[in-house]
Amino acid sequence: MLTDPTLPRVKAAFVVLVRNSELYSLRSSMRYLESRFNHKYNYPWIFLNEEPFTEEFQNLTRMMTKADVQYGLVPEEHWSYPDWIDQEKAAECRKNMASRNIVYGGSESYRHMCRYQSGFFMLHPLLDNLDYYWRVEPGVKFSCDIEYDPFRLMQERDLKYGFTIALKEYRATIPTLWETTITYARSHPEYVYPRTRPDSLLKLISNDNGWSYNLCHFWSNFEIASVKFMRSEGYQSYFKYLDEAGGFFYERWGDAPVHSIAVALMLKKSDVHWFYDIGYKHDNFEHCPTEQEWFVNSKCYCNPGTSFDFNPGSCTNLFLDVVGKSASDFIITRPDEKDL
Ligand code: GDP
Ligand code: MN
Repeated sequence: MLTDPTLPRVKAAFVVLVRNSELYSLRSSMRYLESRFNHKYNYPWIFLNEEPFTEEFQNLTRMMTKADVQYGLVPEEHWSYPDWIDQEKAAECRKNMASRNIVYGGSESYRHMCRYQSGFFMLHPLLDNLDYYWRVEPGVKFSCDIEYDPFRLMQERDLKYGFTIALKEYRATIPTLWETTITYARSHPEYVYPRTRPDSLLKLISNDNGWSYNLCHFWSNFEIASVKFMRSEGYQSYFKYLDEAGGFFYERWGDAPVHSIAVALMLKKSDVHWFYDIGYKHDNFEHCPTEQEWFVNSKCYCNPGTSFDFNPGSCTNLFLDVVGKSASDFIITRPDEKDL
């Protein structure tokens, strides 16, 4: 049933936070996803921006798909300084981080973006009727045909979070994220999955039973996740706690470690799926499935030899260890025998 595009669609959509200036790299991402997957399913696209989308942007994205397309504005209170933030101190911190050459260390807009992606985008009314979202960015590539419906997989298995690439965060961007998280977890045990249970995911983010963060996180530029989880009291209370601590502005907390830490603290092993069979590239890192069968009939055109999973900075092997599975356990549909 996972491969039947004639079934009624799952309540799901692609969600993209994007600037007008990224129109052409967004069209490229859309083309990849439409031809690798969505032309058979026609899941809607939702675009969000803190500035109104231009007519040109709307026309040139709408024509990339047969599916429904919606354009949403980010409310100002989700893209501005909350009153407890000392903006002078924030500017000092940016200057300091820029002088230390920390990636995006000097950028103000990047911080608003990370904060928005951490705790607000899921609250946008355009997501009200959705069970799942698939986050997409401009300029990403999908290098394999996707021959089943990932949204339906999420639904059938009651999954909460799916990823393709897992890696380590730059420590300098999150000096106090872990201590803030620990204080949160101590004061909100009702939202934390007990770390003593065998299906706890804590080992994914901590090698010493919670004392320190090992920097592993899911790369959130790709994620397929449950709207209900991201809107849950637990998740939202964690975000609020972090937001009040100020690290989105005084440091440079990314939405990827925030999502990932919440997943590892609040969910259990069977809630998380590695989309091993989705070839995906963002910037210079690419995940590519490696079995020979994927390369028959050009189903995939990534290079399996350079798949990020083999990079020493990858956290995917740790994920497999923690959940007690192997990569092939995550293959959903194998290519037809006749193709081999
Ligand atoms: P990186 O992947 O961490 O290098 O960051 P990106 O520049 O790719 O930004 C992450 C996502 O947020 C992408 O979908 C961008 O299009 C989007 N984004 C980043 N900054 C802004 C911004 O100032 N406004 C809007 N509307 N989108 C942004
Ligand atoms: Mn990006």
